[in-house]
Amino acid sequence: MNSSATPQNPVIFQTKDIDQKIYVREQKGYYQTIRRYLNVILLAVFIVLPFIQYNGHQAILFNVEKQTLTLFPVTLYPHDLLIFGLIFIVAAFALFYVTRLYGRVWCGYTCPQTIWMLMFNWIERRIEGSHNQSKVLDNSSINVEKVLKKTSKHFIWLALSLLTSLIFMSYFVPANELYADVFNAEVSSLLQGWIIFFMACTYINGGWVKEKMCLHMCPYSRFQSVMFTPKTTLMAYNANRGESRGPRQRNQPKPSNKGDCVDCNLCVQVCPVGIDIRDGLQYECINCGLCADACDSVMSKFNYAKGLIRYAAQKKSDSDWKQHIGYGLIIALFSVSIVAWGLTRDTFEVSVLRDRQVLYRVNSLGQAENTYSLKTLNKSQNSQTYTLSISDSSLFTIKGNTTFTVQPGEHYVNVITIASKKAPENTATTIDLKVTENASLKSTTQASVFYSGDKTWYN
Ligand code: SF4
Ligand code: SF4
Repeated sequence: MNSSATPQNPVIFQTKDIDQKIYVREQKGYYQTIRRYLNVILLAVFIVLPFIQYNGHQAILFNVEKQTLTLFPVTLYPHDLLIFGLIFIVAAFALFYVTRLYGRVWCGYTCPQTIWMLMFNWIERRIEGSHNQSKVLDNSSINVEKVLKKTSKHFIWLALSLLTSLIFMSYFVPANELYADVFNAEVSSLLQGWIIFFMACTYINGGWVKEKMCLHMCPYSRFQSVMFTPKTTLMAYNANRGESRGPRQRNQPKPSNKGDCVDCNLCVQVCPVGIDIRDGLQYECINCGLCADACDSVMSKFNYAKGLIRYAAQKKSDSDWKQHIGYGLIIALFSVSIVAWGLTRDTFEVSVLRDRQVLYRVNSLGQAENTYSLKTLNKSQNSQTYTLSISDSSLFTIKGNTTFTVQPGEHYVNVITIASKKAPENTATTIDLKVTENASLKSTTQASVFYSGDKTWYN
């Protein structure tokens, strides 16, 4: 432990001795009730979202095969990478903002790693008993009870992991297809591989790696300390009130030389990352409030005021609102950019490629002809009909489909020939090809070049 870290001097430090297995004691209380309800809501959202249909298709789907992301009425393609950038920037700044205000509440209350870790711990407690019984079971030699309990625990953990993997995969493969394939045992070997992979990830993370992910692997835990300020609300032990700590009898007057901490160690036993909050602010703390709930229950038993361990900021002032400006402005700016992008986004894209193998050819009417490939991508969620036209129709004529229908997400390739009705003034003439979406009358124009040679062949 870093000796410079004391409750009076709450610098962030790393606890050195928490690499052994942690047997988390279950705890009820105010913050855990909030956390439980929040987790139930988040889990329900996670499960239900892939089943929501919008306009005849899955409302949220990251279709890996088609390389598209559908979000209700919007379908994003690889070309729309900018919007992903903006969304990630907003999400990152929102996380930094919350961290600056309330420390690692994301980790303690909403991070999937914590939610699954708690679910796995809940299953373990139901099968193996309390944290102490679990420890005794681990240290006992192999016997029937141990084998039965361990087998049932791992079986349920694996079942939960499989369920998690299936739900997760339904964000990438249409849910109706995925579940139909699973129930009919017709899952492709590729999909089976991914389901097993995510099942293994969930099982290893939730059952074995647990808090080690937060302690050693999560990059967020490493840089969160740079966002803390004296105004950040963090879980803290009130050392002035608690010290000097020491055991005592219940229903007896408090010893005059003692503070309120009865040194019961309950706050350490319930901590999912195995730290002692009384040592001061430690980077492992995920701000989950378990120690506060545990301590409040002890304070109640001794008829002391609650809040010996509580969420608190070192410094609060009237100018606290100023800390909202920087992050608030950035989040607002990028959110407005996302909305503006959404409102002005094209629903189709066109590219024109001139046939480079033949510069030009002369047709039976004695006109110069050039060939082009016109690629149209329909980015909307309905089939669309488009009309093609050329800028200088008195000089050029289009041979081929000038009206065509493209299915949603389809890249339609239209090979056309353009002929010049009379000799152009220049050897190479710039032409503009205009594609109009019939339903919305939105149009896009692509420039290309028409080659006509030395024109001696024109009548
Ligand atoms: S110290 Fe308290 S708030 Fe921090 S992780 Fe442990 S139990 Fe949660
Ligand atoms: S739970 Fe409260 S009383 Fe018990 S050791 Fe922790 S701080 Fe002290």
